[in-house]
Amino acid sequence: MERSIYAESFALDVTAKDRLDTRRKIKYESELDKTFSNRIAESAHGEQLFGCIQCGTCSAACPVSHYMDYTPRKIIQMVREGFKEEVLKSSTVWLCASCYACTVECPKGIKITDVMYALKREAISGNYYPKNAPASILANNFFKQVLNNGRNSEGPLLMKMYLKTNPFMLLKNMMLGIKLFTRGRISMKTEKIRDKKALKKLLNSVESKKKILSAGKPADVKEAAV
Ligand code: SF4
Ligand code: SF4
Repeated sequence: MERSIYAESFALDVTAKDRLDTRRKIKYESELDKTFSNRIAESAHGEQLFGCIQCGTCSAACPVSHYMDYTPRKIIQMVREGFKEEVLKSSTVWLCASCYACTVECPKGIKITDVMYALKREAISGNYYPKNAPASILANNFFKQVLNNGRNSEGPLLMKMYLKTNPFMLLKNMMLGIKLFTRGRISMKTEKIRDKKALKKLLNSVESKKKILSAGKPADVKEAAV
Protein backbone atom coordinates (compact mmCIF):
# COMPACT_ATOMS: atom_id res chain seq x y z
CA MET A 1 0.00 0.00 0.00
CA GLU A 2 1.22 3.49 -0.86
CA ARG A 3 2.36 5.73 1.97
CA SER A 4 1.71 9.43 2.10
CA ILE A 5 4.94 11.40 1.74
CA TYR A 6 4.09 13.80 4.51
CA ALA A 7 3.35 11.05 6.98
CA GLU A 8 7.04 10.42 7.38
CA SER A 9 7.91 13.88 8.54
CA PHE A 10 8.73 14.61 12.16
CA ALA A 11 7.05 16.65 14.86
CA LEU A 12 8.83 17.94 17.93
CA ASP A 13 7.06 17.67 21.25
CA VAL A 14 7.92 20.98 22.90
CA THR A 15 5.77 20.21 25.91
CA ALA A 16 8.41 17.90 27.35
CA LYS A 17 10.18 19.86 30.05
CA ASP A 18 13.76 18.73 29.91
CA ARG A 19 14.02 17.15 26.50
CA LEU A 20 12.50 17.25 23.05
CA ASP A 21 10.66 14.11 21.95
CA THR A 22 10.57 13.25 18.30
CA ARG A 23 7.26 11.76 17.26
CA ARG A 24 6.88 10.02 13.96
CA LYS A 25 3.54 9.18 12.39
CA ILE A 26 2.99 6.87 9.50
CA LYS A 27 -0.36 6.81 7.79
CA TYR A 28 -1.60 4.93 4.77
CA GLU A 29 -3.37 6.69 1.91
CA SER A 30 -6.61 4.90 2.78
CA GLU A 31 -6.59 6.46 6.28
CA LEU A 32 -6.41 10.02 4.96
CA ASP A 33 -9.49 12.19 4.41
CA LYS A 34 -9.13 13.41 0.85
CA THR A 35 -12.28 15.56 0.98
CA PHE A 36 -10.81 17.59 3.86
CA SER A 37 -8.55 19.77 1.71
CA ASN A 38 -11.37 20.69 -0.66
CA ARG A 39 -13.63 21.63 2.22
CA ILE A 40 -11.00 23.86 3.82
CA ALA A 41 -10.05 25.38 0.48
CA GLU A 42 -13.69 26.19 -0.21
CA SER A 43 -14.20 28.02 3.05
CA ALA A 44 -10.86 29.90 2.91
CA HIS A 45 -10.92 31.46 -0.57
CA GLY A 46 -9.29 28.52 -1.73
CA GLU A 47 -7.71 27.23 -4.81
CA GLN A 48 -4.36 28.83 -3.97
CA LEU A 49 -4.01 26.31 -1.17
CA PHE A 50 -2.96 23.77 -3.76
CA GLY A 51 -0.29 26.07 -5.15
CA CYS A 52 1.83 25.99 -1.95
CA ILE A 53 5.50 25.45 -2.79
CA GLN A 54 6.48 24.56 0.81
CA CYS A 55 9.00 27.41 0.96
CA GLY A 56 8.47 27.89 4.72
CA THR A 57 8.17 31.69 4.54
CA CYS A 58 4.93 31.52 6.54
CA SER A 59 6.60 29.57 9.35
CA ALA A 60 9.54 31.97 9.42
CA ALA A 61 7.20 34.99 9.57
CA CYS A 62 4.92 33.51 12.23
CA PRO A 63 5.69 34.96 15.70
CA VAL A 64 4.26 31.94 17.52
CA SER A 65 5.39 29.05 15.30
CA HIS A 66 7.93 27.96 17.97
CA TYR A 67 5.05 27.08 20.29
CA MET A 68 2.94 25.27 17.69
CA ASP A 69 3.04 21.51 17.36
CA TYR A 70 2.97 21.90 13.56
CA THR A 71 4.23 25.07 11.88
CA PRO A 72 1.98 26.86 9.37
CA ARG A 73 3.95 25.34 6.44
CA LYS A 74 3.36 21.85 7.81
CA ILE A 75 -0.30 22.55 8.48
CA ILE A 76 -0.83 23.61 4.87
CA GLN A 77 0.81 20.42 3.62
CA MET A 78 -1.10 18.24 6.08
CA VAL A 79 -4.40 19.83 5.04
CA ARG A 80 -3.59 19.12 1.41
CA GLU A 81 -2.71 15.52 2.19
CA GLY A 82 -5.85 14.91 4.24
CA PHE A 83 -4.44 14.59 7.78
CA LYS A 84 -7.74 15.75 9.18
CA GLU A 85 -7.54 14.51 12.77
CA GLU A 86 -3.93 15.53 13.34
CA VAL A 87 -4.63 19.03 12.01
CA LEU A 88 -7.88 19.55 13.90
CA LYS A 89 -6.49 18.26 17.18
CA SER A 90 -3.28 20.27 16.92
CA SER A 91 -2.52 23.30 19.05
CA THR A 92 -1.55 25.30 15.95
CA VAL A 93 -5.00 26.55 15.01
CA TRP A 94 -5.62 27.74 18.58
CA LEU A 95 -2.25 29.41 18.98
CA CYS A 96 -2.61 31.36 15.75
CA ALA A 97 -2.83 35.00 16.79
CA SER A 98 -4.43 36.12 13.48
CA CYS A 99 -1.61 38.60 12.91
CA TYR A 100 -1.66 37.99 9.11
CA ALA A 101 2.17 38.04 8.87
CA CYS A 102 2.13 34.70 7.00
CA THR A 103 -0.58 35.84 4.60
CA VAL A 104 1.30 39.06 3.78
CA GLU A 105 4.59 37.23 3.15
CA CYS A 106 3.37 34.15 1.26
CA PRO A 107 4.81 34.29 -2.29
CA LYS A 108 1.86 32.28 -3.64
CA GLY A 109 -0.83 34.53 -2.17
CA ILE A 110 -2.24 31.83 0.06
CA LYS A 111 -4.57 33.19 2.73
CA ILE A 112 -3.05 31.17 5.56
CA THR A 113 -4.82 33.11 8.30
CA ASP A 114 -8.16 32.33 6.65
CA VAL A 115 -7.14 28.69 6.48
CA MET A 116 -6.54 28.81 10.25
CA TYR A 117 -10.01 30.31 10.76
CA ALA A 118 -11.55 27.63 8.55
CA LEU A 119 -9.75 24.98 10.60
CA LYS A 120 -11.04 26.49 13.84
CA ARG A 121 -14.60 26.33 12.52
CA GLU A 122 -14.13 22.75 11.35
CA ALA A 123 -12.60 21.75 14.72
CA ILE A 124 -15.55 23.27 16.58
CA SER A 125 -18.23 21.75 14.35
CA GLY A 126 -16.54 18.34 14.39
CA ASN A 127 -15.99 18.48 18.17
CA TYR A 128 -12.23 18.08 17.77
CA TYR A 129 -11.20 21.17 19.65
CA PRO A 130 -9.61 20.99 23.12
CA LYS A 131 -12.64 22.03 25.20
CA ASN A 132 -10.74 23.09 28.28
CA ALA A 133 -7.87 24.88 26.58
CA PRO A 134 -7.88 28.67 27.25
CA ALA A 135 -7.44 29.57 23.57
CA SER A 136 -10.50 27.63 22.39
CA ILE A 137 -12.66 28.84 25.30
CA LEU A 138 -11.57 32.41 24.60
CA ALA A 139 -12.28 32.05 20.86
CA ASN A 140 -15.68 30.42 21.44
CA ASN A 141 -16.88 33.03 23.93
CA PHE A 142 -15.50 35.90 21.86
CA PHE A 143 -17.44 34.59 18.87
CA LYS A 144 -20.64 34.23 20.91
CA GLN A 145 -20.31 37.75 22.33
CA VAL A 146 -19.80 39.36 18.94
CA LEU A 147 -22.60 37.30 17.41
CA ASN A 148 -25.10 38.21 20.14
CA ASN A 149 -24.08 41.78 20.97
CA GLY A 150 -22.03 43.03 18.04
CA ARG A 151 -19.17 43.89 20.41
CA ASN A 152 -16.51 42.24 22.51
CA SER A 153 -16.59 42.80 26.29
CA GLU A 154 -13.08 42.14 27.62
CA GLY A 155 -13.89 41.94 31.34
CA PRO A 156 -16.70 39.35 31.17
CA LEU A 157 -14.76 37.45 28.49
CA LEU A 158 -11.66 37.10 30.70
CA MET A 159 -13.78 36.19 33.70
CA LYS A 160 -15.46 33.36 31.77
CA MET A 161 -12.15 32.07 30.47
CA TYR A 162 -10.56 31.91 33.95
CA LEU A 163 -13.64 30.35 35.56
CA LYS A 164 -13.79 27.64 32.90
CA THR A 165 -10.06 26.91 32.81
CA ASN A 166 -8.19 27.81 35.97
CA PRO A 167 -10.03 29.86 38.65
CA PHE A 168 -6.77 30.14 40.63
CA MET A 169 -5.36 32.29 37.85
CA LEU A 170 -8.22 34.67 38.50
CA LEU A 171 -7.01 35.07 42.09
CA LYS A 172 -3.40 35.40 40.94
CA ASN A 173 -4.25 38.18 38.49
CA MET A 174 -6.78 39.90 40.75
CA MET A 175 -4.52 42.82 41.73
CA LEU A 176 -3.68 43.51 38.11
CA GLY A 177 -7.40 43.35 37.24
CA ILE A 178 -8.27 45.83 39.99
CA LYS A 179 -5.56 48.24 38.78
CA LEU A 180 -6.83 48.05 35.20
CA PHE A 181 -10.42 48.46 36.40
CA THR A 182 -9.74 51.52 38.60
CA ARG A 183 -7.84 53.21 35.76
CA GLY A 184 -10.69 52.61 33.34
CA ARG A 185 -8.66 50.22 31.16
CA ILE A 186 -11.07 47.33 31.55
CA SER A 187 -14.77 47.16 32.28
CA MET A 188 -17.11 44.45 33.58
CA LYS A 189 -19.97 45.89 31.55
CA THR A 190 -21.39 43.89 28.64
CA GLU A 191 -20.92 46.06 25.58
CA LYS A 192 -23.73 46.05 23.00
CA ILE A 193 -24.37 47.83 19.75
CA ARG A 194 -27.58 49.83 19.54
CA ASP A 195 -29.10 48.12 16.52
CA LYS A 196 -28.79 44.39 17.13
CA LYS A 197 -31.54 43.72 14.59
CA ALA A 198 -29.40 45.23 11.82
CA LEU A 199 -26.51 42.97 12.86
CA LYS A 200 -28.76 39.91 12.69
CA LYS A 201 -29.96 40.98 9.23
CA LEU A 202 -26.38 41.45 8.05
CA LEU A 203 -25.27 38.06 9.37
CA ASN A 204 -28.27 36.32 7.82
CA SER A 205 -27.56 37.87 4.45
CA VAL A 206 -23.86 36.81 4.66
CA GLU A 207 -25.00 33.29 5.53
CA SER A 208 -27.43 33.07 2.59
CA LYS A 209 -24.80 34.56 0.23
CA LYS A 210 -22.35 31.89 1.38
CA LYS A 211 -24.94 29.17 0.66
CA ILE A 212 -25.59 30.56 -2.82
CA LEU A 213 -21.83 30.76 -3.56
CA SER A 214 -21.08 27.25 -2.34
CA ALA A 215 -24.03 25.84 -4.30
CA GLY A 216 -22.55 27.36 -7.47
CA LYS A 217 -19.00 26.07 -6.85
CA PRO A 218 -17.45 23.19 -8.73
CA ALA A 219 -17.51 19.95 -6.69
CA ASP A 220 -13.74 19.62 -6.75
CA VAL A 221 -11.97 22.90 -6.05
CA LYS A 222 -8.62 21.18 -6.51
CA GLU A 223 -9.45 20.31 -10.08
CA ALA A 224 -10.78 23.80 -10.74
CA ALA A 225 -7.43 25.24 -9.64
CA VAL A 226 -5.37 23.30 -12.14
S1 SF4 B 1 4.65 30.84 2.53
FE1 SF4 B 1 2.99 30.18 1.19
S2 SF4 B 1 3.98 28.95 -0.40
FE2 SF4 B 1 5.45 29.15 1.29
S3 SF4 B 1 5.08 27.32 2.59
FE3 SF4 B 1 3.82 28.95 3.42
S4 SF4 B 1 1.82 28.67 2.41
FE4 SF4 B 1 3.33 27.53 1.21
S1 SF4 C 1 -1.73 34.64 11.26
FE1 SF4 C 1 -1.41 32.92 12.66
S2 SF4 C 1 -0.22 31.44 11.49
FE2 SF4 C 1 -0.08 33.39 10.41
S3 SF4 C 1 1.79 34.35 11.17
FE3 SF4 C 1 0.13 35.14 12.45
S4 SF4 C 1 0.02 33.74 14.19
FE4 SF4 C 1 1.24 32.70 12.61
